[in-house]
Amino acid sequence: MSYWWRPLLLLAGLILIGGLFWLAGRPLAGLGIVTAGLALQLAHHLRQLRRLDAWLAAPQTAPPSSDGLWGDVLYRLHKHLRAGRAANQHATANLEQMLHAARSLPDGVVILDDANRITWVNAAAGRHLGLSAEHDLGQFVLYLVRGARFGAWLTDPPGAPMTMPAVTARDTTLSLQMVPLPHGSKMLLTHDISDLVRVDAMRRDFVANVSHELRTPITVIVGFLEAFADMDMPDPKLLKNHLGLMREQTERIRRLVDDLLTLARLESDMELKEDVVDLPALALALLHEAKTLSGDRHQVSLEPSCAARLRGSQQEIHSALGNLVSNAVRYTPAGGQITLSWAATAEGGAAFSVSDTGEGIEPENIPRLTERFYRVDKGRSRATGGTGLGLAIVKHVLARHQARLKVESTVGKGSTFSAVFPAERVISPEKPAEADRSAGQAAA
Ligand code: ADP
Repeated sequence: MSYWWRPLLLLAGLILIGGLFWLAGRPLAGLGIVTAGLALQLAHHLRQLRRLDAWLAAPQTAPPSSDGLWGDVLYRLHKHLRAGRAANQHATANLEQMLHAARSLPDGVVILDDANRITWVNAAAGRHLGLSAEHDLGQFVLYLVRGARFGAWLTDPPGAPMTMPAVTARDTTLSLQMVPLPHGSKMLLTHDISDLVRVDAMRRDFVANVSHELRTPITVIVGFLEAFADMDMPDPKLLKNHLGLMREQTERIRRLVDDLLTLARLESDMELKEDVVDLPALALALLHEAKTLSGDRHQVSLEPSCAARLRGSQQEIHSALGNLVSNAVRYTPAGGQITLSWAATAEGGAAFSVSDTGEGIEPENIPRLTERFYRVDKGRSRATGGTGLGLAIVKHVLARHQARLKVESTVGKGSTFSAVFPAERVISPEKPAEADRSAGQAAA
């Protein structure tokens, strides 16, 4: 405000001098002085305006130096411009960041205008719907993403999400959602739900399989119970026979429930016990189990094994390897040979193998053996008390120990199932004290 006084004082001075000349009887001289003074002021302001104009053409440079009223005006203008520029830069950086985030979102985003033309598309939408940010901007989305269902869903007012296969990969399932934006625009979101769909299908299959597995023994038991209800005095021999069969079916249900509970426990991510598993001792126990199960129907042997120890759950490893042993006995006809062995692997790990001279497995079935309820020989599996869950349990147990199941088989000759443990699970004999201590710590 103080800067206004100078031009006002100048003006007042001019008027005073002109007035004095007027009073002194020289009005023309007074008028001339006032006019000259005003002309000078005008010329000064015009010059400043020209400098201001030149500066505004390139406002990022420093403002012209001035003092007085113009200095004040230019200083304030410069301040405002600088603040505006800073706010702009901040907004641009924010926008860039948001665009970058939107571009790299795992979900697809397509912005459509009021006529369903594509105005923006991110990389995931490109993958899901086969759209490209370079070529498809401005195109009608319905020309590029075809399908009557999609067309109807897009043109109807946005409602519930819709699922459809991805344009680029038919085995990928997408969930599509529409979000209305101002001025009739919309945001189309695509989310890959293939895993959910797969898990859901697996869950349904699993429930159907369990129900099927339970139905047969339950039907048998109910049948016998109904037969008993109709009999006045059951024949004791028949009764004994029927009770025996009922017990067999009940056993079958119990085994199935036990295996299901084991699987559920393994899947519940419970903490792994880190015992020290003595391999030679475990191999001897498994040899004994194999002989008991076989009941002298097979030749069972144990090859000299490495004297290593493993870090892991004694109970889980024993049960998994026991499953391999039991399968070898169950799927090898009488007179066959079953060989157990522990060996060090080239990578410093250890592998427990069970080889049999059984019927063998066709190569196409091998990758599916660890699926729940997958059986190559259904009849033999059921007849020998199999639940179809044994190898699924083995796979889980091994995965918890970072180990893997290796299957080699030749139809008509036999199979070798190996549990291969990695080097980090093996406690080398040179460092027993350290190994014991670390196992103790992990268990604690
Ligand atoms: P099951 O309870 O039916 O034995 P598993 O999960 O243990 O279930 O095994 C799955 C299937 O793998 C079995 O039904 C059988 O067909 C096949 N299988 C497993 N081990 C052997 C083996 N040693 N020799 C031949 N087939 C085998």
